[in-house]
Amino acid sequence: MLGNSKRYISIEKTKTYIYFLFLYVVIASLSITYTSYRVGHATIWPADALMLASIFSRKIDNIQSATLITFLASLIAQTICGYHGFYMVLYALVSSIQIFLSCHAYRIYIRKGLIFSDYKSILVFNISSGVIFPFICAILGGTFNALEAGSPFLGDFVDWFFSLSLGNVTFARPFTYILSGALRDNIRNAFSTEKGIFVSCLSILIAVVSSYLVFNQSAYPFLFIPTSLVIANSLLCGEVLGSSTVMLVSMLAIHFTFRNSGPIVLMHIGYLGQEAILQIYLLFLVFTERAVSIIFMRNESLMQGVAAREQMLNVMMSNATDSIVSIGCDGLCRWAGGASLDLLGCSASDVVGENIIHVLGADEVNEGVLRSFFEDDSKTIYTFSYRSAYRKMLVLNVSFRKFWTGGVVSGAIVTVHDITKESEKLADAIQRSEKDQLTRLLNRAGFNEKMKTLIGSNIKTFCLSYIDIDHFKTINDTYGHEVGDLVLTKISKLMLTEMREVDIVSRFGGDEFVIAVLSDEEKAGEVFERLAQRVSDETFEISPAQNIKITISCGFARYARGKMLDLLIQEADTALYDAKRTGRNRVCAFNNQKMVLQPLEA
Ligand code: GH3
Ligand code: MG
Repeated sequence: MLGNSKRYISIEKTKTYIYFLFLYVVIASLSITYTSYRVGHATIWPADALMLASIFSRKIDNIQSATLITFLASLIAQTICGYHGFYMVLYALVSSIQIFLSCHAYRIYIRKGLIFSDYKSILVFNISSGVIFPFICAILGGTFNALEAGSPFLGDFVDWFFSLSLGNVTFARPFTYILSGALRDNIRNAFSTEKGIFVSCLSILIAVVSSYLVFNQSAYPFLFIPTSLVIANSLLCGEVLGSSTVMLVSMLAIHFTFRNSGPIVLMHIGYLGQEAILQIYLLFLVFTERAVSIIFMRNESLMQGVAAREQMLNVMMSNATDSIVSIGCDGLCRWAGGASLDLLGCSASDVVGENIIHVLGADEVNEGVLRSFFEDDSKTIYTFSYRSAYRKMLVLNVSFRKFWTGGVVSGAIVTVHDITKESEKLADAIQRSEKDQLTRLLNRAGFNEKMKTLIGSNIKTFCLSYIDIDHFKTINDTYGHEVGDLVLTKISKLMLTEMREVDIVSRFGGDEFVIAVLSDEEKAGEVFERLAQRVSDETFEISPAQNIKITISCGFARYARGKMLDLLIQEADTALYDAKRTGRNRVCAFNNQKMVLQPLEA
């Protein structure tokens, strides 16, 4: 899936690159063809302006790609126009260098949150891309020209400089206006109301009339009429400094045009053609200067909004206690979130591209489970808890939640939550409720739980004994309650050492113990007898100077499938009663089959 979307993006990008390469070649070839003298490189500015606009309007995101397209397209255009040789490569290089510098300046300003956010930054950008970069590139271009054609450096330098700055500062703007779709939207808006139609028509009329007056009078000061319209227009939105620099560059370009040098005079279309081009150009400025600045500003505020949101998301992710991973239906991780990935014991770069099954390392989720989760339309969430294979101390709760794109399940968000503390608390609470505090054996509740599991496992047979210490009350009364406790603890330990791990040993309360031995009647009888013998053989040290002997009585019954636990305990208790009744210190099986131990020595 990811592969497909990547491919899709790259096909789209390639189409855009080819489109701009084609446009550049067409525009550059046309401008070179109509060059009046020498070579056509200095008149490539409308095409260069187009490339800048492609970056400003975000049609092309990658500066390197824009630079490369400029270089290639410039070569192609020059070749088409019959221009060959080493200098052709150098001129293409100058164009691409200035595109690279201007685009970079734009990006750096954007990244610093500077560009077009205030008038000072507009001024700085206009000076760098309208004066400094063209100056650097004009030195290169002018030198190459002078070397190639043997012409004076200064004249070529001026041509280059004004061509480049005109392209950079002024023509990049209308192209941006067109490429960003704002021209289409604004025309639609302007003509959607009567007032809009009136204002638009009036503006066009003023611009055309003022331009007509300018050129028909051939009076130099009148040039200020259309340009001051632009300034007035810009004043409306307060962009005095930004617009003034645009105007300054434009005025100088026009000035040099009328001195038979500069970019526009290079067009080999005579006086009328120059007029027409100037009028079109000024009209463009009137209607686009303000709008394009607004586009830039809007881009900037959008960028700031996106950056703020991104920053907020990063803060949230790095402080989140959960790990969040986005996966596709193939189980591969697409994206993983922040510092909280510590839970999984890995970093985001380790996770992305890996299968979530391996990332989690949990038995609860394998390929089959994942597949059926994605295939089962009735399931939206799949949750489980497990002890991490990589972080052994951690108990994690994992939830998979599906998400849809265009009505089709396209993956899941996996949230991993640390429940170690909760699970420890739960285990502790369970232990507390199921364990006897004095002897640490299971209590009645714990024993019942274990028996439920044992009986539920469909076991065929086992034996359950009810054990009671003989004359325990006397021990308490004679030596004190603490000694009684010591006896209980010691007998518990003896029971645990005598029984196997599979057997279940519990203290029901007081001096009563219940043990389940997972053996048949005969074997169990032997086990209980051995236990009773072991207790009676043991010496209980109640003080450094005094030892006592203790005995136990034991009654046991056999479990057969289907027998209720309560009944089984009751039978064992009955057998115990028999053991007590018939003299204590002995083991009795239910059904009156009594196995009597030898009485203890006094
Ligand atoms: P029998 O041989 O008939 O069993 O006589 P007995 O004295 O052992 O009588 P019984 O089993 O009824 O006595 C149990 C005694 O255990 C009564 C109670 O004082 C004592 N006891 C109950 N719980 C504890 C305890 O937690 N610690 C101590 N030290 N004594 C306890
Ligand atoms: Mg007793």
